Amino acid sequence: MAATAGQVGGRSGLDVRSVTVSFGPTTAVDDVSVTLQPGRVLAVLGPSGCGKSTLLRAVAGLEELAGGSIHFDGEDLAGVPTHRRGFAMMFQDGQLFPHLDVAGNIGYPLSLKGIRGSARDEEVARLLALVDLQGYAVRRPGTLSGGEQQRVALARALAARPRLLLLDEPLSALDRSLRERLAADVRTALTVTHATAILVTHDHDEAFAVADDLAIMRAGRLIQHGTVLDVFRQPADAQTAQFLGYSTVLAPPEAERLTAYLPVVVRGHSVALRRAALQAAPIADPDYRRGLEGTVDRVSAARDGWHLEVLIEGIGRVPAIAAADVVTRVGDRVTLEVKRSDVVILGEGGQRER
Ligand code: ADP
Repeated sequence: MAATAGQVGGRSGLDVRSVTVSFGPTTAVDDVSVTLQPGRVLAVLGPSGCGKSTLLRAVAGLEELAGGSIHFDGEDLAGVPTHRRGFAMMFQDGQLFPHLDVAGNIGYPLSLKGIRGSARDEEVARLLALVDLQGYAVRRPGTLSGGEQQRVALARALAARPRLLLLDEPLSALDRSLRERLAADVRTALTVTHATAILVTHDHDEAFAVADDLAIMRAGRLIQHGTVLDVFRQPADAQTAQFLGYSTVLAPPEAERLTAYLPVVVRGHSVALRRAALQAAPIADPDYRRGLEGTVDRVSAARDGWHLEVLIEGIGRVPAIAAADVVTRVGDRVTLEVKRSDVVILGEGGQRER
């Protein structure tokens, strides 16, 4: 049968329909619908307490649904116990078996499937290479760093060849630089194995680094769902923009004053600015044409030049950047060039190119 839209080789992946999960009076997951196609990685992103883990646990079969349904490859999972779903979970703390060495941990799901002897050894070696831990086979979990333990946990989760991998804040316990490196390695491991996975995280950088698709949650509800790029390019609202790392959101009157310097008309909409949306240059610049001006209120050095905060009359305090060779001090007047590609107009309609 030919694959049709939403299906790969007859597989349709995950289909969460209007799922609600309640704990007494608390509705942790509120009427959430989301789909995930085979071979793709979905990050569920939202602040702590928004219901991400509960949604993941519901998919795993660890929480009862108060409403809705969960299907996988067309099969309704109601009544299918966790261990029969063919899913694997990985947690923040890895939860390795302390009494087994690394090879024993990774090989455990293989043994459960009846894979033994040289077939098991070969598969363990392949998985060790996949997570870049060649030579670690006989180490005990207690002798590994946090990052190494998470690599082993990932290899063990992948060893089961789950049809869906559920990752609950797998990198949250690690420090930032390690997290960044490991996020890239997790992405590679998932891609190479064509895994279908859901990653729960409160860290947008981690979501961007690992996932193809993004589901934004807030207070139990799904706010936005799409590819990482689409959601990042066009956040649904101001809160989402801020959560995705936009530096500033301006309300309509200020937004209109700022966007007066762009070839776009904005009426009644907020705008979200990326860090690089405003490029500052000293007014003494010989190329200066009269435009948006402000007064430097703060200056700090950054990897890519200077990060400024600028006070603009009628708009307020906004972040700006300046090139590394530009000298500005607090109190200096600067001109600000607005970069269209780093300004997002929030909400639909009401805007047109000039
Ligand atoms: P997140 O993963 O986004 O941090 P959770 O899914 O853990 O959020 O929690 C969502 C909400 O449900 C929170 O208000 C939390 O206190 C509540 N909650 C989660 N698990 C339970 C539970 N077992 N019993 C009661 N309330 C719970």
